[in-house]
Amino acid sequence: MSDSNGNLLLDARALSKTYRMGRTDLEVLRGVDLQLLRGEFVALCGASGSGKSTLLHLLGGLDQPTSGEIQFENKNGKREAVDSAEHRRHHVGFVFQAYHLLPELDAVENVFLPARMAGVARSQAEAMAKELLDRVGLGNRLGHRPVELSGGEQQRVAIARALINHPQLVLADEPTGNLDSHNGEEILQLLKSIQVERGMALIIATHDSKVAAQAQRVLHLCDGVLIPT
Ligand code: ADP
Ligand code: MG
Repeated sequence: MSDSNGNLLLDARALSKTYRMGRTDLEVLRGVDLQLLRGEFVALCGASGSGKSTLLHLLGGLDQPTSGEIQFENKNGKREAVDSAEHRRHHVGFVFQAYHLLPELDAVENVFLPARMAGVARSQAEAMAKELLDRVGLGNRLGHRPVELSGGEQQRVAIARALINHPQLVLADEPTGNLDSHNGEEILQLLKSIQVERGMALIIATHDSKVAAQAQRVLHLCDGVLIPT
C-alpha cells in the first residue's frame, strides 16, 4: 500500500528490540511506531541509554528488530525492506558521534569509498568526493588523513561521505557530541542546510535541547516508546 500523496519515506510499525544478555533480557524498544516524511528533519531525544542509537540502527538497517516491521518507500512509490546492504548503500547515509573515518585513507578516499562500493568508477567517485568536500568547507584539506584533521573537520568529512550516494535519509547519531559548542553549532547548521538543499530526510539523535530546537519535529524516546512533543 502506498501513501496517498507519496510523501511517506519510512514507515516503522511496532518495533521492539530486546538484547539477550546471558540469562537476562534487556528490552530497549517496546513498540515504536514512526512515520517519516520525505525531506523531514526530526530530532530524536532521550536520556543516555534510552535506545536512540538502537533505534537509528534499526531504521537504517544496520541491525534487525526483535519484532515489528520497517518499510522504505523509494522514489517510484515502491516499498522495500531496509535489511540489505544494497538498500543502505543507496538510500541511507550515517553520521556517527565518533566520525568512524578510516585512518589510513585521506579525506577524498574516505568520502568516495561508498560510491566505489556502489560501482562508480574511481575518477568519477573522486570528482564527486572533491565537490562534496568543497561543499562542507574542506576544499583545502583533500589530501589530509583523519589524524591530520580537527574533530569538526573529521565530522565534515563524515558528512560528505554520508551524502555521496545521494541518500534520501540521513541518520546522525549525536553528531555534535564530541565537539565544542562552536563546532557543534557549525556541524548542525551544515546538516540542516544540506537537508534543505537536497530535500532529504534527516534524523538527529541527541540529548542536546539546542539541536532539538532546530528540528521540525521532536520525538522523545522514553521507556522504550516514542512520545511526540
Ligand atoms: P542511547 O543511544 O540512547 O544512549 P543505546 O541504544 O545505545 O542508547 O542503548 C540502549 C540500551 O541498550 C543501553 O542500556 C545499552 O547498554 C543497551 N545496549 C545497546 N547496545 C547493546 C548490545 N549490542 N548488546 C546489549 N545491550 C546493548
Ligand atoms: Mg547512543
